[in-house]
Amino acid sequence: MADRAGYRTGFIGLGIMGSRMAANLRRAGFDVSVWNRTTEKAESWAREHGGEVAASPAAVAEASDAVITMVVDGGQVESVLLGDDGVADGARDGLLCVDMSTIGPGEAQRIGAALAERGMRFMDAPVTGSSPKAEDGTLTIMAGGEREDFERARPLFEAMGELVVHAGPLGHGQMVKVINNTVAVINTAVAAEALLVGKQAGLDLDALVTVLRGGSGGSAMLDLKAEPMRSHDYTTLFKLEHMLKDIRLCREAAQAVSEGRGEAAQAVGKGREAGDAPLMEFLEPVERILADADERGLGEADFAALLEVLEQRAGTRL
Ligand code: NAP
Repeated sequence: MADRAGYRTGFIGLGIMGSRMAANLRRAGFDVSVWNRTTEKAESWAREHGGEVAASPAAVAEASDAVITMVVDGGQVESVLLGDDGVADGARDGLLCVDMSTIGPGEAQRIGAALAERGMRFMDAPVTGSSPKAEDGTLTIMAGGEREDFERARPLFEAMGELVVHAGPLGHGQMVKVINNTVAVINTAVAAEALLVGKQAGLDLDALVTVLRGGSGGSAMLDLKAEPMRSHDYTTLFKLEHMLKDIRLCREAAQAVSEGRGEAAQAVGKGREAGDAPLMEFLEPVERILADADERGLGEADFAALLEVLEQRAGTRL
């Protein structure tokens, strides 16, 4: 299996992330067959990188030892794996499916159980790091599932990522991921607020950002988003509508854990006692900011565009 040339990999979903991740599999020497909902994107990817374009997800499975999915949400993962002409229709017994989209722990467990009934293996392996890290193969990958499946997938992960972590059983990769993104977007919102209050106080924003970045107020999101926010450049590295999806997945999973119910709770362990304080109290105001931005038509912009909502509320612009 670890012989890359003989390791036939299927890749479904060639968007911002998937196109770059699949390219790194090719660069590492894997045989790759691809399928994308919009066929022209698959054809153009194959012209550039040299893989095969399959006619359907089922045809990808027929040509593969492992199939990776990188689409948007749980409904899409379910449809490409288990829908008509989906991966399950072309899979041999024991085919390993690895979903790298962000779909939340409950969906990962549900889809994993359905695949297991059809004789297939499943791991959730979401990623963090936007398109630049997908491009240069330095993503962080957090995988949930059986250790044996993790070892089967490891050569693929190592071609796409730099930090590869086996987080635990199925669903734990997703839980780690949605917590991570929630922390990231809360940090982004607070960085935007810092810039706005600094502007209103008449501060030199270069001085403010330099001190924050060098000190205890720094964060990866401040490093990545402060300059785009200051220039209102929302070139999409990570769509705002996807960040809204992720923070909602985190809220749902946190609520399930808090109430000790559902598959998400089982994915992350035993429930909490009734009457405990709610989990992740900072999540909801930031979810509302993202929802406002989405309603204003900014869903396809980078999530740094949440600044627009805060600027409107503050009655000032950076
Ligand atoms: P994207 O650019 O919007 O790509 C989405 C992919 O899903 C495209 O290949 C798209 O096909 C496909 N797709 C959409 N609807 C579909 C459907 N109904 N059936 C089948 N395929 C469908 O998104 P992305 O930024 O690559 O993100 C992919 C996943 O990674 C998401 O779960 C996201 O939350 C997560 N993620 C993103 C980032 C980031 O920085 N961008 C970082 C970490 C994780 P078409 O080409 O036909 O539209």
